[in-house]
Amino acid sequence: MQRITLLGATGSIGRSTLDIVARHPNRYSIFALTANRNAEKMAVLCHQFNPEFAVMADVTSAKKLKTLLDNERTKVLAGEEELCEVASEPGIDIVVAAIVGSVGLMPTLAAVRAGKRVLLANKEALVMAGALFMDEVAEHGAELLPVDSEHNAIFQCLPAGYKVGARPLGITQILLTGSGGPFRDLPMEAFSTVTPKQAIAHPNWDMGPKISVDSATMMNKGLELIEACWLFDVGESDVNIVLHNQSIIHSLVAYNDGSVLAQMGNPDMRTPIAHALAWPERIDSGVEPLDLIKVSQLNFEAADTLRFPCLALARAAFRQGGTSMAILNAANEIAVDYFLSERIKFTEIARLIEQALDQVASHAANDLQVILQDDLRGREFVLQQLKQIAI
Ligand code: NAD
Ligand code: MG
Repeated sequence: MQRITLLGATGSIGRSTLDIVARHPNRYSIFALTANRNAEKMAVLCHQFNPEFAVMADVTSAKKLKTLLDNERTKVLAGEEELCEVASEPGIDIVVAAIVGSVGLMPTLAAVRAGKRVLLANKEALVMAGALFMDEVAEHGAELLPVDSEHNAIFQCLPAGYKVGARPLGITQILLTGSGGPFRDLPMEAFSTVTPKQAIAHPNWDMGPKISVDSATMMNKGLELIEACWLFDVGESDVNIVLHNQSIIHSLVAYNDGSVLAQMGNPDMRTPIAHALAWPERIDSGVEPLDLIKVSQLNFEAADTLRFPCLALARAAFRQGGTSMAILNAANEIAVDYFLSERIKFTEIARLIEQALDQVASHAANDLQVILQDDLRGREFVLQQLKQIAI
């Protein structure tokens, strides 16, 4: 029996993870569930999965959860320290890192430092602290497995015995696929008037609001490019982004003998999550079998950086190195938040990130305090800019 702490249980990845856990009651049990504020949803999950701990990041929500729970077993805790605690508890085997945004960094790092099998969905944590994060993985012997569908696909296309963090031998290129999001074919003049509702209506995936907006700006693909560079120890020029609107091929690896390996499947996050949970075994994920005749066509196109400036910004941040990636990520988080609450236009997101990259000084990123400080400076800079433009 493998014991799991699920960080971000009430989100989209949380839901998919729990769906798989429920299918394999003899294989997995839940030690702890965590969430930010949604006490009602958390109460339902606690009744269903009976964890030892339920941690709410928000104190008031933890109090509320206590009043909603009637199972004796689950202890309710609150705050970031407790999130780190349940992610590093000696009795657990697996931590699923599915908190959205930079707030996921500390609990995910806690799991890494405790040498756990860490299933990484929380790409922002790796983007902001890549070098340090990967050093800690190596130092503490953590088993890092990518859940992001593209990175999981790449991992599946690498040779048997490949360990995340090492540069794979014989590869010439990583091809990162992306659907292009809801605005792939929208006339560019219309970008400034798109609404959050339009932006989060992703054609192929059902995801949380922040990553859905990231998919619409394609900053998601930019963050994933950086994520791929850290996970597989390659440079940004080794990673090519290919638009593929069916989301059936989740990414590809090209080798020097001319072979190109791809991983395919229906767009359902339960596949990469099940793969990473059971690796190197395979378990049922509940995902519909892929019907290629029904899919009938797979299309590919180059990604247009005029249409999607965030792609170029992410590449630039990786090339600049150091805390530039933490600044890029911080600026994006604030800008997306303002867009979601309808205080800025969609097109302001990329502009604000570009300004932050240009104007906030970056530093070497081997110290956590420096990374967190530049993350904060990135946020403060954007908030300052927003004073002039936000509604
Ligand atoms: P979501 O918004 O649906 O869920 C986010 C979870 O994080 C929730 O459980 C929420 O309670 C928790 N959370 C939010 N703020 C928090 C805080 N301050 N402290 C503690 N917990 C907090 O997001 P999601 O779509 O499930 O995405 C989660 C992560 O996985 C993101 O980093 C995203 O980029 C990544 N990811 C998601 C998908 C997907 O299909 N949804 C695919 C690949 C990667
Ligand atoms: Mg992805």
